[in-house]
Amino acid sequence: MSVIETVELRKSYGRLEALKGVSLRVEKGQIYGLLGQNGAGKTTLIKILLGIVRLTDGEASLLGAPAGAASARRRVGYLPEDHAFPGYHTGYSLMDFYGSLYGMAASERKKRIPETLELVGIAGRMHSKIKAYSKGMKQRLGIACAMMHEPDLIVLDEPTDGVDPMGRREIREVMAQLKARGHTIFLNSHLLGEVELVCDRVAILQQGKLVREGTIAELTQTKGTFVIGLMPG
Ligand code: ATP
Repeated sequence: MSVIETVELRKSYGRLEALKGVSLRVEKGQIYGLLGQNGAGKTTLIKILLGIVRLTDGEASLLGAPAGAASARRRVGYLPEDHAFPGYHTGYSLMDFYGSLYGMAASERKKRIPETLELVGIAGRMHSKIKAYSKGMKQRLGIACAMMHEPDLIVLDEPTDGVDPMGRREIREVMAQLKARGHTIFLNSHLLGEVELVCDRVAILQQGKLVREGTIAELTQTKGTFVIGLMPG
């Protein structure tokens, strides 16, 4: 069973065709990168899978269920592109809040929070207010929140966007560690260097069309044909 599968997926917003027949498949344990410039349709694909917007045509499934099914959505950890954490929370209190939303018992939350913050490298700052965190730390906290309930799939929408080079490297290291632990990650990015570093497979989206798909080795052999407009990262 695939973790994500789309077949000829289409989405229109009025007259604008954001996705023009996208077919892809993500298997368990992979870091799968969806690479494309701003406006290519990456966020739209995630939103369809999570049931935030409805597909126009084609098929999409998530963890064996039709896209948007609550049973599958609960098993996903999602870090959206534009999120803002309240600065008055500490890393710990924010995760505790997420854990309670997921219905986790207090004792379970108490155990899980330090473990997860350790994994993303901010356990030492867990009792500091989020307003004192760097952008990179906030993103790593976001990844920790997404992982709080031990999801079967982690979806990260441009997690390094707006983060300085050092912070980007730290986030990539977190993703590599998650992969080493067997997690499945679906990563949206416009940074070629980023997907090259962390992903097993990549799909390249240009104006709603999937123009290439394959392993990094397959795609880098013909790099010149698809990198136009993408940031080296
Ligand atoms: P970005 O990184 O800028 O978010 P993206 O690859 O994630 O880019 P999408 O956000 O999926 O791209 O947007 C794809 C296209 O659909 C863009 O042209 C965008 O303006 C348009 N779009 C997205 N959401 C809506 C909406 N709710 N209503 C109308 N158009 C939309």
